[in-house]
Formats: sequence, C-alpha cells, structure tokens
Amino acid sequence: MSDFPRSLIEFQSRFPDEAACVRYLVAARWPEGFVCPACGTGKAWPLQAKAWTWECAHCGKQTSVTAGTIMHHSKLPLTLWFWAAYLMATHSNGISALQLQRQLGLGSYKSAWLLCAKLRRSMVASDRSPLAGLVEIDETEIVCRSKNDPLTGGGGRSHQGKILMVGAVEVGDGGPGRIRLQQVSDYSAGSLHPFLKANLAPGATAKTDGWAGYSGAPGVTHDPHVVGRMAAHVVLPWTHRVFANLKRWALGVYHGLRRKHLQTYLDEFVFRFNRRRVRHAAFRSLLGIAAAHPPFSYKMLIQPEAKA
Ligand SMILES: [Zn+2]
Repeated sequence: MSDFPRSLIEFQSRFPDEAACVRYLVAARWPEGFVCPACGTGKAWPLQAKAWTWECAHCGKQTSVTAGTIMHHSKLPLTLWFWAAYLMATHSNGISALQLQRQLGLGSYKSAWLLCAKLRRSMVASDRSPLAGLVEIDETEIVCRSKNDPLTGGGGRSHQGKILMVGAVEVGDGGPGRIRLQQVSDYSAGSLHPFLKANLAPGATAKTDGWAGYSGAPGVTHDPHVVGRMAAHVVLPWTHRVFANLKRWALGVYHGLRRKHLQTYLDEFVFRFNRRRVRHAAFRSLLGIAAAHPPFSYKMLIQPEAKA
C-alpha cells in the first residue's frame, strides 16, 4: 500500500498539522465520501462551531471524524496521536512510555503512559480470526518483576516471581504465520483447553510436545511429539524462537515485565509480530480506523510488505 509514509521525513511532510490528519481520517473512514452512521445518507455540512464535525442534511445527526476511534474526546492534538501511533507501529521493538515522552516532548510521564496504554488497548481486534492449519503450541514461564525492583540482584530476588504462559504459532510455507500468547494460571487441561478453543480454528492441528494438558481439546486435532523437555526446541522450533524473542524484547524495551500488565504486553508483542510485514495496517489499527476496512487475511500477513 502506497499511502503509508516510509520515513520520518515523509511522515512529517504528510501530517504537518491537524487539517492533514483530518483529511487522512476522512479518506480512511469514508473512502466513497461521507456516510451518516445514523441514516446512511451522504449529504452533510461541516459545522463551524465544532471542529471536524459534520451534520447530516437528512437526519441532523452530528458526526465527528474521530467518533468511534480511540482519539474521540481526547484533548491531545491529532498530530500527537498520529506521531505516537506511527512510532509504535514502525518501531520493530516497540517504544516505552518514557521513550515516547522524550520523542514527542510530552510534559508529563503520566500523559505519555496513558497515550501508550490507549494505543496498546487497540492492539487486540475483537474480530481477529483464529489460527488455522498446523499450529505449534507450547508453554513457558517468564520472570516478572514487581514495583521498580530490578530483575536480578540480591535484595530484589524476594520480589521476583514467575508467570506462566502459553503460546501458539501458525506454521506454513516453512516459516511462522500469526501467533497468540496468553497468561495462564497453570498448565492443566482446564487452563489450556480454553486457550486452544479461543485461538484455534475448528479443524486446526495442534502440534505439541505431548503434554497431557493439551489432549482431548474439542475441535482440535492433536499431534503430540513426545520428547524430553531439552529437545522440545527441535520439535517446536517456532514457538521456542517466539518465546526467546519475547523474553529479549521484554528485557530490552521494558526492563522486564510486571505481573499486573503482563497480558497487555503479550498482546502488544503479538500485535507487532502479526503485523511485521504490514506496518500501515498496524498504524490504522492503532488509531482505531482499521475497522473501515475488511480485516486482512493470513495471505496478506505473510506476503512481503511491498505487496500487502
Ligand atoms: Zn443522517
């Protein structure tokens, strides 16, 4: 897709002010021209008194261009939202609230953190389609930290804990497709079966290390490869690579993850991974305007970015 800026310079010249951001939102939401969400007609007038708002000529409903997006009712300028979404979407490793605060010159850490939190909240699409075909599944544990204690080092150790999680990686064409990660309370069938049910399409094949907690999940073909734990990375290479990347990312970007927000960080990692070749889609999703377009398919995700 050519309508996504490829560099910071391009981004800056493309979105220099509020009006430019509004034009982009209008084009993304109403590619065929304004459509009233209440009555479906297309004739409307821009309001003088309310910024970026149209009033329907037929039913009188007023519609803001940011209605239904995460930017609605925000006091922050659209340019700031666009910058934040661009940085989050294009940084291959993501960006912490502190980095965002510095990059955007935000006055307080709190507003940067809230901005990040809102953008991160739009990282799980409610209509995302489950993983299909052959799917590697495995569990791992991740060391978490509490408060501001460092991950390692003497006194901090008593605050450390481990969080259990389960991951799934779609495997096709010799490489990984989409992934899912979820925190679980234990590795019992009671915890693992709901994960399989929520994330695997009917008829998918779950390739596992043979752990008993996976067998018997309804609707899923189980393909166990019973091996010693040491050899699991041979049987399940992609889940192991994803787990390793996740742990490195958690340390590098966030200096370790906290238990309280773990699932949102897992969601961010998944979002980033699944859109690694379609950054423009990530940008739109983050702003909450992706819904104007049909969700992208697995094929689109695994295609090179230039074709997507
Ligand atoms: Zn109307």
